[in-house]
Amino acid sequence: SKVPFITLNNDVRIPQLGFGVWQVPDDEAQVAVRNALDAGYRHIDTAAIYGNEEGTGKALAASGVARDELFVTTKLWNSEQGYDSTLRAFDTSLTKLGLEYVDLYLIHWPLPEVDKYLDTWKAFEKIYADGRAKAIGLSNFHPAHTQRLLSESSVTPVIDQVELHPQLQQSELRAFNARHNIATEAWSPLGQGKGLLEEPKLAEIAAKHGKSPAQVVLRWHLDLGNVVIPKSVTPSRIKENIDVFDFELDSADLSAIGSLDSGNRLGPNPDTFN
Ligand code: NAD
Repeated sequence: SKVPFITLNNDVRIPQLGFGVWQVPDDEAQVAVRNALDAGYRHIDTAAIYGNEEGTGKALAASGVARDELFVTTKLWNSEQGYDSTLRAFDTSLTKLGLEYVDLYLIHWPLPEVDKYLDTWKAFEKIYADGRAKAIGLSNFHPAHTQRLLSESSVTPVIDQVELHPQLQQSELRAFNARHNIATEAWSPLGQGKGLLEEPKLAEIAAKHGKSPAQVVLRWHLDLGNVVIPKSVTPSRIKENIDVFDFELDSADLSAIGSLDSGNRLGPNPDTFN
């Protein structure tokens, strides 16, 4: 496929566009992941809390795609934060996925009021040192949380996966991450398919390029340097969302999309989510 790689700060390469499986039940995930692999995706984003690590793992095994051509991410759920519980939860995730290692393991949320992410990160460093995760990173960390983690630990996270789409562009967070050599990954990159994709400006740009609004939004993410993990269970959309390498946005398109930033979140605010 034409998906480019981004080289993370530990030299691991991540396909810039992957496939997310949030809210996909286990048996459906098996089908969706298979369809995604057939469409050319090689990067799959799951999490313990999604309840579909087993279906995802079955699809990976059945596909016959070589392990070293796959990039698999999973995440530690909030209730398992803490050193020992993280190690146990990681074992469970690996078993469910049927893998000997994951490519990327993320702390799902910082939970600043629970205040266990430093201990949790120590367990992540151990998992990384043991080679059972090829890279370790963060999700939903704001600069203050990440800064504290950087000051108090030895391994720099490779990535921060956060809510990011044209209506929540996260400019400051992206600049902070870039300064620290941490890649930024966009969750709900299509704004969950709700209001965003009906924006008249996106329809205009899409028509101009003979593409869909979803494709325009994904192209915008790639141009910004974001890692992006759109989700769909519809085979035609799964194909559509990876068919974004045959057109280019111009500067007028980019500034029109830039003007859609309203700061509105679809998900919880990481500062207060516990
Ligand atoms: P998304 O922005 O990828 O939107 C998915 C929805 O958009 C689909 O359910 C469908 O309704 C619609 N859609 C998809 N393709 C379309 C197309 N081509 N045309 C029209 N509509 C289309 O939303 P998401 O699933 O929330 O986010 C993607 C992935 O990000 C998740 O599956 C998950 O892996 C990850 N995620 C992570 C976190 C986190 O806390 N780390 C939170 C949410 C999501």
